[in-house]
Amino acid sequence: MSLKFYSKSENTDNCPCEIFCHEEKAQWHCLPDPELFEGLSAEDAENWKAYLYTKPKKQGQRFNLRSHAVALYDPFAARKDFAAGRRWCVNVYVGCAHSCRYCYIAAYIRKPFEPRPKKNFEKLLQKDFKEIEKLNLHPAPVHISNSTDPFQPIEKIHRHTLFLLREIQANRKCFTTITMLTKNPAMLCESEYLNIIQQLENFQVEVTCPFYRDEIRKYFEPGAPTVESRLKAIEELRENNITVSLRIDPIFPREPLPEQFFRKPLLEDYGAPESHTEEDIEQLIQFAAKVRCKRIIVSPLKLVMGRFAGKDLRPDYLRLYSEANQGKAIKKGSSYRLSWALYRHWVEKPRQIGMSLGIPVIYCKNNLLKTD
Ligand code: SF4
Repeated sequence: MSLKFYSKSENTDNCPCEIFCHEEKAQWHCLPDPELFEGLSAEDAENWKAYLYTKPKKQGQRFNLRSHAVALYDPFAARKDFAAGRRWCVNVYVGCAHSCRYCYIAAYIRKPFEPRPKKNFEKLLQKDFKEIEKLNLHPAPVHISNSTDPFQPIEKIHRHTLFLLREIQANRKCFTTITMLTKNPAMLCESEYLNIIQQLENFQVEVTCPFYRDEIRKYFEPGAPTVESRLKAIEELRENNITVSLRIDPIFPREPLPEQFFRKPLLEDYGAPESHTEEDIEQLIQFAAKVRCKRIIVSPLKLVMGRFAGKDLRPDYLRLYSEANQGKAIKKGSSYRLSWALYRHWVEKPRQIGMSLGIPVIYCKNNLLKTD
């Protein structure tokens, strides 16, 4: 039997939980994200609910998310608007030493560029795996690690990423696909990591490298590995038959600025710094095609408005973003964004180059791609 789910627009104005929470349907109605359970049998849904949420202590109280090492992917997004479905995410550390100027975690993580280990990470991870197994939660994709790089210098001290990979290997049946995101693939080439990932079925690594010239990388990603190191490591991973996607992410506004959106043609007319050029992007795509990466993922630059952002890119780009939208930058959540039309304009050329070289260049409005 499948559960009946209420959509957020349905009956939620007068949430009946205070009155009816003892009734099963009403309890589900009070879940923060009912769409997450769509399609599950009643028993499976109960098990997922038990893993994800704390039990309300009193009748009528709402369910709150539990804290986990193996956590729900993007836990604060409503699945109705953000169709991630049931996916896991393990963030190995808190904060990130790469200190990218465009970093999105600055919007929600205190001291974003001071990386630290998670307290009791190994213990909590093992506890979560036991619980997932006990509750018999069906396999789902897992992502490592969206809000911190798994291969920063502190990995050499704590080895939490190595520990995680070993645990994933031991609990492989919990996952459909394993996707790792990093700007430091050189560490993944070290034998203790490589030996594990070579044995992991449906493992893929997404390497982010938005720039081709290292002097530009130094400005935007001052603490991250060089471009040369990333490309060399991608080549080595591919020689070892590891599935790699290249992320040109974020993709920056580029010259020539299209005249249907801008009155002036140059980035400097708006006080914006040089980033990647059309030629840089072409070089990156040619490289990815040559080493037979699976695909190239592009995603537009968001200007984060985080409280913890410190020196961010808003002053550099806000004039440009405002001009692009008739004087008022588009604000969504905690960031300023480009219009979808303009974003598509800047993605079209890379897409054509990719097509001519036989490598897909893909993008998603929600940065949410199929993991198979
Ligand atoms: S690598 Fe990712 S998490 Fe780390 S600073 Fe850069 S954007 Fe932020």
